[in-house]
Amino acid sequence: MTRLILATRNNGKIVELRAILADAGLPHDLVGADAYPDVPDVRETGVTFAENALLKAHALARATGLPAVADDSGLCVDVLGGAPGIFSARWAGRHGDDKANLDLLLAQLGDIDDDVHRGAHFACAAALALPDGTERVVEGQMRGVLRHAPAGTNGFGYDPILQVEGDTRTAAELSPDEKNAISHRGKAFRALVPVVRELLG
Ligand code: IMP
Repeated sequence: MTRLILATRNNGKIVELRAILADAGLPHDLVGADAYPDVPDVRETGVTFAENALLKAHALARATGLPAVADDSGLCVDVLGGAPGIFSARWAGRHGDDKANLDLLLAQLGDIDDDVHRGAHFACAAALALPDGTERVVEGQMRGVLRHAPAGTNGFGYDPILQVEGDTRTAAELSPDEKNAISHRGKAFRALVPVVRELLG
């Protein structure tokens, strides 16, 4: 069984990708980057989700000698020209302060009360890199409309303010399974299936 390493410390992502690969009849031995603690963190110097996902996947593949998958994701607001985009995790300045990021974005959109202009999507790029430098990258999106106030307690990040397209609920009001079925990351991970089959069999 081919070992495949996923550039994340988030166990939820490992479980999600493992299930997708197993469902597709590709039961690879998927482990998280925690299994290789000596691998240094990568600076995300790209200007797109795809570039950052590829940077992380190549660094991990080089350091471990194993095929590596990495994802990069964020929220893209139409009226802000796609921002916060790759800066989603540190929009308010400090990396990973979900509440500050969400509050700042709501304040920035405070005057935008026309639903036509509150469209946004989550985007995710998922990259597979092999130790020999072979690379592939795929993408997924989940569209919606930004609420004026948060609702829901599931999920993370900007989930409480994105009302999912075709639904009356925010992403934070979906169960994890409901979200995985339609999410940007779920779509990108599922788009990796033919890529894994092509490159790793
Ligand atoms: P990462 O690429 O998974 O580290 O995500 C970067 C940032 O994008 C997160 O810190 C969140 O702010 C935002 N983000 C990405 N995916 C989601 C999601 O599914 N829900 C809410 N926020 C997300």
